[in-house]
Amino acid sequence: MGDERSSTDFVDVRMVIDLGERHLAVGMIDADGNVGVRDRVVTPPRDRDVALTRLVHRVLAATPAEQQPVLCAVTGPGPVDEQLGGFAPLGDNDWNGLPVRDAISEVVGCSVILESTGRGYALAACDGGSVIGVHLGDYVDGGIVVDGRLLSGERASAGEFAHLGIEPDGRPCRCGIAGCLDAYAGVRSIEASTGRGLVSTPASLIAQSGMMVARACASLAAMMDIHRIRIGGVVVEAFRQAFIESIHQELSERTRLTHLTDLDVAAAQFHVLAGASAVALAAGTIESSAV
Ligand SMILES: [Zn+2]
Repeated sequence: MGDERSSTDFVDVRMVIDLGERHLAVGMIDADGNVGVRDRVVTPPRDRDVALTRLVHRVLAATPAEQQPVLCAVTGPGPVDEQLGGFAPLGDNDWNGLPVRDAISEVVGCSVILESTGRGYALAACDGGSVIGVHLGDYVDGGIVVDGRLLSGERASAGEFAHLGIEPDGRPCRCGIAGCLDAYAGVRSIEASTGRGLVSTPASLIAQSGMMVARACASLAAMMDIHRIRIGGVVVEAFRQAFIESIHQELSERTRLTHLTDLDVAAAQFHVLAGASAVALAAGTIESSAV
């Protein structure tokens, strides 16, 4: 988390929200990204919009009246559905259909930007430079940042790495095709394949997951000519060092091309509001879903 500051330090205040797999988190940040007032609740199985607006009200009530937000950035499971003003992860009904942007905008009364968790993660990881961010949460997601700017794409969702084809005739994916990255490296897919919780995944499958992530990293690095890749999310936390070692082992086989020899692939975890904070601070430099 950023440094705690006294309330008088907060002038250009922005609200940041993360619609996480386990928690809904809301906070206020200053122009340097320091987090002030913050709160969170367990993500409920239903009526999530109700829980979210209640939490936003609570954070606003705890914020001094002169520090109302000028902007709000929200990260959630991608891709963003621009027409809906919400999130529409493939095959997931928990967020689909909820007009998150309108619901929050009504409460906070300022512009609301929506970004996928993975794209927010990439922005948080870029450090002003270029990076490919791969986020392994319930679903695989990510983003590509070039010289500090998040690549958008025609639908503002560049970096949806979930359905990269990495294993012909491989494990079935929720998209209906076989061998996608998500089938090996997304929490829901991993748990579905083992019938166990993530932390009980057998070592052989952790190694396989690392190998598939490495394949994706090598392809992405070659395609984008970006040598720095950061990997985060619940899977990295649960699989720990064995996972990272299997990634590096596979990469050593796949990086004989001269432009891949300096590939810098590492795990990087940030606080829960880091992605939304990066999006809020970068507002104006990326095309996004603002009202
Ligand atoms: Zn797929």
